[in-house]
Amino acid sequence: MNHSPLTIRTDQLLRESAGLLDCRLSDHQVEQFITYLEEIKSWNRRINLTSIESPEDIVLKHFIDSLTCLKAVSLSEGLKVLDLGTGAGFPGIPLAIYQPQIDLTLLDSMRKRAEFLKHLKCVLGLPEIKILCGRAEEYGRDRTEREQYKLILSRAVSNLSVLAELALPFLRVGGEFLAMKGKEVREEIEAARETIALLGGRLKEVTEIILPMIDQKRHLVLINKEKETPDRYPRRPGIPQKRPITVIAQ
Ligand code: SAH
Repeated sequence: MNHSPLTIRTDQLLRESAGLLDCRLSDHQVEQFITYLEEIKSWNRRINLTSIESPEDIVLKHFIDSLTCLKAVSLSEGLKVLDLGTGAGFPGIPLAIYQPQIDLTLLDSMRKRAEFLKHLKCVLGLPEIKILCGRAEEYGRDRTEREQYKLILSRAVSNLSVLAELALPFLRVGGEFLAMKGKEVREEIEAARETIALLGGRLKEVTEIILPMIDQKRHLVLINKEKETPDRYPRRPGIPQKRPITVIAQ
């Protein structure tokens, strides 16, 4: 493969920053990430995928940020994983590049983003990835999806109370939900605690992350599913956001 000077720099940045997270990337994985970056740049001219545009920022704030999940969960072979509200594929795609043996499903309600993801899984050579286009509120009531997953991942979709209602129905009892959060998280967790319990979950741990190279703080919030989610959740599309359970309970 012929790399431009820019690509070579991006390449090194990717390897070095992944290394700081203790992730060793093979040459093939680096090539997959570079292809991913190029596809984002090209599709971003036509559809709105991300506001982050420089190659360095895409590497650090999307790819490396996604890989930080590995600090809170381990991705064993065959693990059934759902990335809820994946957008342009974060954090699911970087994790599938790193660990292609997971059984990954990406869910997003936007059709154009789902089209991008279908194209992407072909060009990256990851044909096993499944893509669902629709609302989490609907798929979460679908018997073929409800209580089917061992791990749910979600970044930048909603606050924790709303997310709990969207995510926990998909999880099997004993599974885990990892919400990727920014630099402040304490108040959001306190506000969501009762809702999480109502939906069958329990806060397990919060891991603080400092993003390599840019020293920005993030938090990984890990929730265990201990009991089945009551049948009435999730409510109809839009209701979890409009009338969060936490507010109703107060
Ligand atoms: N996780 C990605 C995208 C965040 S933007 C990232 O971190 O970059 C939030 C995404 O969630 C959008 O693409 C939006 O279409 C999707 N989304 C929001 N609410 C949803 C819902 N109820 N069901 C399915 N997808 C949803």
